[in-house]
Amino acid sequence: MAAIQESTAGAVTIVAGLESTFADELGALTVLWQGAAAPDPQLLVVNEQLAASLGLDVTVLQSADGVGVMSGSTVPVGATPVAMAYAGHQFGGYAPILGDGRALLLGELVTNDGQRVDLHLKGSGPTPFSRGGDGYAVVGPMLREYLVSEAMYALGIPTTRALSVVATGRHVRRNGAEPGAVLARVASSHIRVGTFEFAARQGEVLQSLADFAVARHYPELTELSATGTHNRYLRFFEAVVEAQASLAARWMLVGFVHGVMNTDNTTISGETIDYGPCAFLDAFDPAAVFSSIDRGGRYAFGNQPAVLKWNLARLAETLLTLIDSTPDESISAVSAVLETFDERYQNHYAAGMAAKLGLAQAIVDRTLVDDLLTLLAEHGADWTGSFRALADELRGDSAPLDNLVPRDHIAPWLQRWQGALTEQGRGSAETAGAMDRVNPLYIPRNHQLDVALRAATDGDLVPFETLLEVVTHPFDRRDDWSDYTEAAPQSFSETFQTFCGT
Ligand code: AMP
Ligand code: MG
Repeated sequence: MAAIQESTAGAVTIVAGLESTFADELGALTVLWQGAAAPDPQLLVVNEQLAASLGLDVTVLQSADGVGVMSGSTVPVGATPVAMAYAGHQFGGYAPILGDGRALLLGELVTNDGQRVDLHLKGSGPTPFSRGGDGYAVVGPMLREYLVSEAMYALGIPTTRALSVVATGRHVRRNGAEPGAVLARVASSHIRVGTFEFAARQGEVLQSLADFAVARHYPELTELSATGTHNRYLRFFEAVVEAQASLAARWMLVGFVHGVMNTDNTTISGETIDYGPCAFLDAFDPAAVFSSIDRGGRYAFGNQPAVLKWNLARLAETLLTLIDSTPDESISAVSAVLETFDERYQNHYAAGMAAKLGLAQAIVDRTLVDDLLTLLAEHGADWTGSFRALADELRGDSAPLDNLVPRDHIAPWLQRWQGALTEQGRGSAETAGAMDRVNPLYIPRNHQLDVALRAATDGDLVPFETLLEVVTHPFDRRDDWSDYTEAAPQSFSETFQTFCGT
């Protein structure tokens, strides 16, 4: 594929050393392209820490030239921006061509600690993959991705990161006219299950893509032979299964609902990507769905591990021809690996849940966890608040838990939990402290995010900036942040919905 849009702006040296190994090595999966000119670009937020880790000078990023680059208007010197091609299963149905319909891969940078990352723009204008879409994005959803991805990072969950959001000055038609915006994000790559689905139908590029992905994400596998029982591609599949099983457990432990787990939104790296209709749980509920378009509940909170396994089966199908020339051999090899997903997921979840409850993994009793989940679900108890309340309980403060679950209902469970803690022989204060280091106090609560994004869309960034500060310090209690631990009022939760691709 190759095409280049008429140049809309000059080139500037903002991001020195931008490389383009993906575009150079996998040209068949890219279209050379560049962003639309932004009528009046204004920087809304820039991530100074992330910029520093990338070796970027924040004052340069804040300059007119820097904002031009981050808005997609200006191509940095030496950069080869491309729109990436990919396919994907969306809500179970196959779409053979999706691709970056409103995004560009600007290039790659090597971080201060030697990791290669993608610098990518979202909302930068139409591309050959735009289909019926306008190619743009608006302020609310781009700030939403900025804040939620940075909150996930602060929670220690693998994720793409946000470098900046620039308002473009363009009016974009959504529910009426909304202010346009471009998000600059950083990811260990933008290779998705959908990239493999696209490549598998293109022929030779599939093996090049697999070798590229191995070298980029699982370099320890590069020495393995391309053929034979323990070949590189089978072990690559296993590595992705492991990364995604671990990621699914992290989401489930923190109460994160991705909302649109199509195969084009499932990475090979194991990072969370594409924060469209995502949300955090208030009350624990496996059936929780926030996205307005997920009517069947395919991507409900409790379905996430099963859906990831389904997405990994789609990845497996693309790798069959690389794994063995005999289809039956390939199918049985990938099936055996895919079947390890459940156990891997359960192990990660059990270890995480043990830590949340202050227990060493060896003594975690599965029924203890299941019974707690049943109690929390029955009483609609706030997921995030419940684990902090249990730690408070250990410190002798029973009020927080009393606000969540009636004492007579939870007392027998508390006794069993105390029994397990006693067996472990660690002091209560020490256990409570350990729990507080893994159970966040502050998450991006839907009602607060909603208020902050509405204000930002109307030009007031202060609530957004405050919420960003809070959720990027999820474990450190501060007295003036007490409002941020409150669950949403019921009237809000009953009607709250998120929207995809907005
Ligand atoms: P998503 O579900 O947001 O990850 O997007 C799915 C597909 O729709 C991708 O191919 C996107 O590039 C494309 N898409 C989403 N929004 C737009 C838009 N406003 N204009 C063009 N393409 C879009
Ligand atoms: Mg996507």
